[in-house]
Amino acid sequence: MVLDTPGKALRAANVPTPKPGPGQLLIRVHACAVCRTDLHIVDGELTQAKLPLILGHEIIGVVAELGEAITRFKIGDRIGIPWLGWTCDECAYCKNGQENLCDDAKFTGYTLDGGYAQYAVADQRFCFPISDSYSDAEAAPLLCAGLIGYRSLVKAGNGKRLGIYGFGAAAHIIAQVAKYQRREIYAFTRTDDTDAKNFAMSLGAAWAGGSNQSPPVKLDAAIIFAPAGELVPQALKAVGKAGTVVCGGIHMSDIPSFPYSILWQERSICSVANLTRRDAEEFMALAPKVPVRTQVESFPLEDANEALHRLLTGTIQGAAVLVNDPAGF
Ligand SMILES: [Zn+2]
Ligand SMILES: [Zn+2]
Repeated sequence: MVLDTPGKALRAANVPTPKPGPGQLLIRVHACAVCRTDLHIVDGELTQAKLPLILGHEIIGVVAELGEAITRFKIGDRIGIPWLGWTCDECAYCKNGQENLCDDAKFTGYTLDGGYAQYAVADQRFCFPISDSYSDAEAAPLLCAGLIGYRSLVKAGNGKRLGIYGFGAAAHIIAQVAKYQRREIYAFTRTDDTDAKNFAMSLGAAWAGGSNQSPPVKLDAAIIFAPAGELVPQALKAVGKAGTVVCGGIHMSDIPSFPYSILWQERSICSVANLTRRDAEEFMALAPKVPVRTQVESFPLEDANEALHRLLTGTIQGAAVLVNDPAGF
């Protein structure tokens, strides 16, 4: 499914099977989850996309062919491929353990072709083994909703009372991890979204309400997964002294101005960008222990446009996943 230009629907196309270069694997894609970032790329809100582009950065598949100098995997291994697709290992950020900020980083399904396809190539350094306790479709959302959610959770600190704004794919995973860590979850959804509130409560939230409501207690931290800048001052009002507000998305509408008093008392705001391999190793080890169970709605690959539309309109509970028919290879 090819994006020719932002603003247009994806187009089903026959493209040549990519060849793995040195250090790369060819992966037969079994499943690829749909992320809100994909919507931002299709909409043109993210402007660095290679074009034409195959979207998709939450890929589960099996190794079908090895490039030269492969040391980490063999043919037939089941692996996952995340958003971070390549880093230089040489810039100041890479050398400082912040490869998520690498000056020359490349990103799967954005500046590299991704997983809305039957085959994809990936740098072996950024591929990860997947626990047998997950099916292909269940595992796919772990690769971004899980990883970025986990990085956001770590950034939020160790506080007990955690607010989550936007109860979609990332939130439904991270709520389970936070509960495992014996935290209390306060879920903020669209004001009239009863289904999302019920979904949050079913995952063990202590409270669920509209994003304009005040929680019954002051929170220690809040994570914002919804791309709405007006949530930042609302979250600042919901956290107590020294509280942290973490913006977990790659894109957000403008943040309205707000009085300094809601930031004062050592509250802070930060963003999360991308992920590191260490995040992936930590989270992929943690997820089966919790155990994180993902709720997915599967679509055939050729229905990618419908899956994106359903995500845009907020009518997916959990995560949307594109799956390939095994008979189609
Ligand atoms: Zn670098
Ligand atoms: Zn993503």
